[in-house]
Amino acid sequence: MYFDPDSVHTISEMMIGGELRQGTSIHPVASPSRPSLKHDIGWADATQVNDAVLAARNAFPEWSALPPRDRAKILYRFADLVDANAEEIARLESLVSARIYSESMARDVKVVSGVLRYFAEFSDKIEGSVTSTPSNSLSMTVHEPHGVVAAISPWNFPIILSSWKFAPALAAGNTVVLKPSELTPFSAVRIAQLGTEAGLPNGVFNVINGDGQVGGELVRHPDVDYVTFTGSSATGAQIMADAATTGLKPVSLELGGKGPQLVFEDAPDLDRLAAMVARGITYNSGQVCFAGSRLIVQRQLADDLTRRVADLMSELQFGPTWGDTTTMPPIINKKQNDRIAHIVEQSIRSGAELLCGGERVETAEGEFYKPTILNVSDIDNAAVCEEIFGPVLAVQTFDDFEEGVALANHSDYGLTASVHTRDISRAFKAAQDIQSGTVWINDWGRRTDFTAPFGGYKKSGLGKDMGRPGFEKYLKSKAIWLEID
Ligand code: NAD
Repeated sequence: MYFDPDSVHTISEMMIGGELRQGTSIHPVASPSRPSLKHDIGWADATQVNDAVLAARNAFPEWSALPPRDRAKILYRFADLVDANAEEIARLESLVSARIYSESMARDVKVVSGVLRYFAEFSDKIEGSVTSTPSNSLSMTVHEPHGVVAAISPWNFPIILSSWKFAPALAAGNTVVLKPSELTPFSAVRIAQLGTEAGLPNGVFNVINGDGQVGGELVRHPDVDYVTFTGSSATGAQIMADAATTGLKPVSLELGGKGPQLVFEDAPDLDRLAAMVARGITYNSGQVCFAGSRLIVQRQLADDLTRRVADLMSELQFGPTWGDTTTMPPIINKKQNDRIAHIVEQSIRSGAELLCGGERVETAEGEFYKPTILNVSDIDNAAVCEEIFGPVLAVQTFDDFEEGVALANHSDYGLTASVHTRDISRAFKAAQDIQSGTVWINDWGRRTDFTAPFGGYKKSGLGKDMGRPGFEKYLKSKAIWLEID
């Protein structure tokens, strides 16, 4: 066992104006690995949402006027404190999410500190331009922070996805009100405490807790200038509508996915490929926006590849996030597991063939779902169309390039896609033709570098997180004109 879940200390309060404040209603948060283990969290009411936004508003003039290099220094100190408290943060994360502790330690916490350092470096590299004008005038374009940024994050990678938002927003000179998911709130407030310890002035980084109603109040607050959201496409659409009701504020939306793994018969290294396809749908038990959930494979390779993937899936070990042999963590809660089971049943009822899995794992506690492969011929089968957010792989076959790409594009989503082939021209042509914000060639999965922007086409979202675009969206531009006599 990596840690004793009974000994983890959680903070039930929020961070408003640099101080811990208890919410007005108390709610239990269950550990998905052991649902009888619960920790309380206080949710904000409308007055507290308002307090957090006003704290951010009041802190904005000082923070945005700070010499940019000083902002960078604070963010560097913040990153160092995150690293120094890595074990505690990783435990808070793994206590209530599906993140296996060894991954929270080796990946998630390091991403947070790395993202803080990466964006800290942008603080003093905000550059404007002088545009071409007649000689009797000068036109400069300058970039300014929006003001108060509302950041709303989901439960599947809580601290990573929160840091993708608060780190660049702060580096650009904005102040932030973060609302983490009500299912995984504990790491966020601890991280905000570390920000204060690092020297963020009070009110620069606030955290409020609550469900979608609290999130809605935050989005609609007239003093919020920009909304950055990661979560489901349905919630993203609601947020876009809400943001338009109070000030037409800009939004960026990182939403759901239904990633195709497009495999041609000349794909290299079948062992590596099978491992990638299996991992692409079982990593975090499939609770990943960029899961490779549709295996679209050229007919002659389909049986061999599917068998290899099923063999690898059978080796996975279910267990709690704190278990040192766990490779398949729990599904976040019963409601989500019911949804997975329902879509699988629906898919089979409408003609899909079950190749493996297709059932829950009966354990004393926690919700688990067996890695599942469904052979699907109907392009509108539920397993092909729905974002299942569980370890369920839909397999489709194709004969030629056009058919394969058409199947890959047959989705409302367009977050990520993979293409597997030895033919570089074919790989590049497929990458051009697939409607997706990211295309991996002979690869799957986001690496822990920070330079590539991430964001979706179609129902997968609007705007990018990470990379230069993931910083620049936290700035607005102004044209300043000077008449020369
Ligand atoms: P969700 O949309 O249910 O909730 C996300 C967050 O929004 C939570 O904090 C929730 O409290 C809040 N929220 C809910 N309704 C709201 C409203 N009306 N107004 C404001 N806030 C509201 O999503 P989830 O179940 O937490 O996360 C899973 C989803 O997130 C999946 O669809 C997944 O694909 C997506 N996701 C996308 C990315 C990406 O980068 N594109 C990354 C991770 C997860």
